[in-house]
Amino acid sequence: MSDPLKILREKCLACRACSLGGREISPKCFSNVFSNMSPSRIMAIGQNPGSEEVKKGEPFVGASGRFFNEAAKGIIGMERSSFYISNVLRCFTPGNRQPTRQELDACRPILDEEISIIKPTLIIALGSVAFERLTGMHGIMKHHGETVVSPRYLVPVIALLHPSPYNTNNPTNREMFHDGLRKVGDFLRQAKRMKSFSQTGREWELKSEKMSRDRKTYLNVDVFLEDMSRGKMMDGFFLSEEVFQLLSAKIQLDRELAKQITDMAVVLLLKADGKREVEDLLAIAESFVNG
Ligand code: SF4
Repeated sequence: MSDPLKILREKCLACRACSLGGREISPKCFSNVFSNMSPSRIMAIGQNPGSEEVKKGEPFVGASGRFFNEAAKGIIGMERSSFYISNVLRCFTPGNRQPTRQELDACRPILDEEISIIKPTLIIALGSVAFERLTGMHGIMKHHGETVVSPRYLVPVIALLHPSPYNTNNPTNREMFHDGLRKVGDFLRQAKRMKSFSQTGREWELKSEKMSRDRKTYLNVDVFLEDMSRGKMMDGFFLSEEVFQLLSAKIQLDRELAKQITDMAVVLLLKADGKREVEDLLAIAESFVNG
C-alpha cells in the first residue's frame, strides 16, 4: 500500500495512543473513525465521531452530517463528495462527551499528517473545538464565517457552528450556519477566479519585529508581513501609499515573497477594504512569478 492517505487511515484505525481507541461500541463497530476519503482539497473538519459514525465507519453521517450535506447542496450547490470530511479527534468518546485536552493532543499527529497529505486550499472548521484546534483562536460566534489563516497549518480556515441538531433546531443558529456557508461559497468563487490559487502558502517563514497594529491602515510593511504570515490580518484593512510602494519593490526583488503573496491572494482580497491597492499588488506579484 503506497497511498499515504490509505496508510494514515490504517494507522488511525489501529491507533491506541489514548484510552478512546479500539473500544467496541456496538457489535463489531469500533470507536476509531477516519475520514470520508473524498479526493478533495476542501476539508470540512468537525470534533469527533458520534455513534452513527461509528456504525458506518465514516464521519458526519448522522443528523449533523445530513444537515451539512443538505445545506451545502442547497446553499452553495456542493455535494458531500466535494469535501474531504474528518474530525480533530478520531474516536467516539464515552457517552459522546466532549474530548479532553489530553485526548485532543494525543490525536494531533493524525490531523497534522492528514493536512500535510491533503494540502487543503480551504478548511471549514465545524464547531468551536475544531476551530480552536485549527487556529488557536477562541470565540466561534465572534469569528463565524470569517476567513482566518491557521498559524500552524498556514491554510485559510472558515469557522462555522457545528451543524448538530442542538444548533440547527435553533432558527437563529441555523440561519447563521447558512450565512457562513455563503461565505464559503464566496471564498471558493474568488479562489476559482484567481489563477494563482494553487498552493496555500504553507512554506511561509516570514519574520518581522513586533509592532503595534491598532490601526486599520497598515503604515509599516513589517507589521503587514507579520500579520499576513500569522494569519492575523485585520478585516477591512488598507495599505498606506508607503507600504504599497515598499511591498511592490520588495516583491520584485524577492520571488519567494511574490509567490507567498500570490498564494494568499484570495485571503488578501477577502480581508481588504482597499481592494484596488491589493489587486495592484497581486497583479505585480503574479506577473513576477509567472514572468
Ligand atoms: S482518539 Fe486519536 S489518539 Fe486517541 S486512540 Fe483514537 S485515534 Fe488514537
